[in-house]
Amino acid sequence: MEDAFRRQINYLRIAITDRCNLRCRYCMPATGVPLKSHQDILRLEEIVTIARVAGRTGINRIRLTGGEPLVRKNVVTLVRELAKLPAIKEVSLTTNGIFLSGLARALKEAGLSRVNISLDTLKKERYRYITRRGNISSVWQGIHAALAVGLAPVKLNVVVTRGFNDDEILDFARLAQEEPLHIRFIELMPIGAAAASAGGYVSMEEIKSQISRVYPLEPLADLVTNGPAVNFKVAGGKGSIGFISAMSSHFCHRCNRLRLTADGKLRPCLYWDGEIDIKGPLRAGASEAELAAIFARAVTLKPAEHHMETGWRQPRVMSQIGG
Ligand code: SAM
Ligand code: SF4
Repeated sequence: MEDAFRRQINYLRIAITDRCNLRCRYCMPATGVPLKSHQDILRLEEIVTIARVAGRTGINRIRLTGGEPLVRKNVVTLVRELAKLPAIKEVSLTTNGIFLSGLARALKEAGLSRVNISLDTLKKERYRYITRRGNISSVWQGIHAALAVGLAPVKLNVVVTRGFNDDEILDFARLAQEEPLHIRFIELMPIGAAAASAGGYVSMEEIKSQISRVYPLEPLADLVTNGPAVNFKVAGGKGSIGFISAMSSHFCHRCNRLRLTADGKLRPCLYWDGEIDIKGPLRAGASEAELAAIFARAVTLKPAEHHMETGWRQPRVMSQIGG
């Protein structure tokens, strides 16, 4: 459906849990964030109902995220149920990849189309440092499993932080040249733990100019979706490189999405505190037509653009919003 600014809203990101097995420094404090009680978190059947309702309002693609979606029990069953919905053309997933190798085949068979895997460094020790506990070998096993079962295109999300991994930009570009991997560089946003350390931000312009001095980049029509990334092919390479610049250049005019938090709130914008409760009406017995009306209201409330640069701070962290 169309919003007030003539954008087609057809994409829903669903945080299926607020829990995570990692504690990435820019996302969460070491001790984690206060978790919702199980009762507050949407049950799998409720997620499926909301997705079916979303389909009635023009949503045709769903991405599961979190928290870490692969820590949610029965995630494979959830994917199977979502993939069966006639209106939903694609179900994808964003994961830290730690548990992916054991689940990739089952997820593919259940109807998952593709995965984005978050990997901010290629160095083992650095990976453990940034995630405070993760083992990079498990992520690589997940990446290889995703490629082997055809969860393609496999995209790697790389949040670039000055002084931490900006020396690996060319290593990631080489990876996109040598492997069928699609690297998506993401600007650090002042959300979650990153809000406290605004100094780490590196602009996409800077990253792009560093890469194009070594690897000629050819513009690519958007890879699979027309989401926020601006994509390029590395000349002669197997993969691609995308840039997501939430901070330095707004992509809000192309925004096509709504978010559903793990505790059942619809969020019209990542960086805005407006949210609309859909779990309450669902549990109170609202009909699917009534729930569809709530969806439609969330779409009409989408703001024209976010204002991350103004200093207002998003109170929720990324794992709570469903980044
Ligand atoms: N746990 C899964 C993962 O890490 O892929 C899914 C949820 S995580 C919140 C989704 C994405 O948000 C990850 O790629 C992560 O790097 C990114 N993210 C978290 N905090 C961020 C921030 N402050 N700025 C930019 N990206 C951020
Ligand atoms: Fe967990 Fe993803 Fe946040 Fe890292 S970025 S702490 S993996 S939710």
